[in-house]
Amino acid sequence: MEAFFRRYLPCLVKLWDWLWPGGQEDPVSRPAEIRTVAGDIKIPAPARKTSAPLYAALYDFTARSEEELTIKEGDKLSVIEKQGDFVLAQKLSGSLESGLVPATYVTLIRDEFANNPWYFGNVSRKDAEKLLMSPLNKPGSYLVRISESNSDEYSLSVRNETQPNHFRIYRTHAGDYYITENKHFPSLDELIDYYQSHWKSLGVLLAQPCTQQKEQFDGDSWERPREEFVLQEKLGEGHYGEVWSGVWKMTKKMVAIKMLKQEDMKQDEFVKEVQALKSLHHPKLIELYAICTRGEPVYIVTELMSKGNLQVYLNSAEGRQLILAHLVYMASQVAEGMAYLEDRKIVHRDLAARNILVGDNLVCKVADFGLARIIKDDVYSVSAATKIPVKWTAPEATSFHKFSVKSDVWSFGILLYEIVTYGKMPYEGMTNKEVVNMLNKGYRLPCPENCSNTIYKIMLDCWKDTGTERPSFHALRSQLEVIYSKLYHNQSES
Ligand code: AMP
Repeated sequence: MEAFFRRYLPCLVKLWDWLWPGGQEDPVSRPAEIRTVAGDIKIPAPARKTSAPLYAALYDFTARSEEELTIKEGDKLSVIEKQGDFVLAQKLSGSLESGLVPATYVTLIRDEFANNPWYFGNVSRKDAEKLLMSPLNKPGSYLVRISESNSDEYSLSVRNETQPNHFRIYRTHAGDYYITENKHFPSLDELIDYYQSHWKSLGVLLAQPCTQQKEQFDGDSWERPREEFVLQEKLGEGHYGEVWSGVWKMTKKMVAIKMLKQEDMKQDEFVKEVQALKSLHHPKLIELYAICTRGEPVYIVTELMSKGNLQVYLNSAEGRQLILAHLVYMASQVAEGMAYLEDRKIVHRDLAARNILVGDNLVCKVADFGLARIIKDDVYSVSAATKIPVKWTAPEATSFHKFSVKSDVWSFGILLYEIVTYGKMPYEGMTNKEVVNMLNKGYRLPCPENCSNTIYKIMLDCWKDTGTERPSFHALRSQLEVIYSKLYHNQSES
């Protein structure tokens, strides 16, 4: 209905905005499907809200420092990671804030099967297949995971001689579990026990629970001999030196190789970038594969992103064909990667389209962690000598050298501006000094052409004067996902 009214009575836009405040996006163009003119870029349907293990607060807890999170008994939470006697938790409603709460104040309310070695919880079908077919597992390996299409139900994935099989585990109204209508079980454990001994009724043997794959590298085994890498083509030139594409002979993977000459004075930062990358693992952050520090030049080897940096990509012939749905999809991925850093209190300090890398199917990952720092307090101060990308940097960071997750949020607003303008330079024609003066007087970048009010409002929120008024990356991600979902469905319907 919203789409109908908006399309046929556009003159009443104010009324529609009031009735449907989420806003209907105006796509830059309306092709039949979400594709570019060339029709070769496919992006996934908006993500269904997945069923990460759900926790509940058992008691009220009042935060005693900025690091902690105030919770009320009964609040629904997701737990990001354990930190000693505390857990880093995120609220699942309202402000979506995250912070530390005592581990004993929360309880898991849905993964009652977590103690079973066969229970893999929130693993996707694709990942389950990868795990089962890995060399560590044999025919007969199996796992149970939460169903991707119905979070109240489960799927049993089993490897036979040649391939994985998947069986849906349904629930009755009374909460029993079943694979076939004629055989119900009060618990998942009993269902698994039964099919272990009656495997013929499934047609595939449940021999042993799936084995988890170990991390590719432990400890210092990131170091690899440089002979393992064959350089192919120069991709660009960055802060430290050249970046090349290449092949990692051992794995036959295509990789990106960042080089640093020993005489270069930037070694300290280079090492910090490697240290940051070693500890960060998220699908929306560039992944470190290996390092070669023996001999010259030093290499940092990471995954290769086929389309290079976002700023250049948006300006390319292919990038210019993207429509708003594509652009919002990319922005939401960046917000997702940044939310991971936000949860860990890591400030990036150089968030900009030039530091986002693009892969196939518009996958975007945050890169360039040379300036990233873990902050103990909420603000990280740098010396006055540190070079600052002024047009991307929040006023409090430019003027007082105070960096925080919220100054990264400011930069995200500028990055969003770059995305919707296909890589335009922000504050074009203005010097850094002029920008600083104007911002202090309250000036903000104007709404770009073809940018909806909803998206411009997100930018303005990121550019609020004080950090506390700016949204979190979790909130940004969810706002952008809502917009993306609307755009996607409009496009597919038209
Ligand atoms: P950097 O030193 O990280 O700023 O990299 C310089 C340029 O090399 C970037 O702007 C990209 O165009 C390219 N580049 C860096 N890393 C990669 C990668 N992993 N995959 C593809 N291109 C990359």
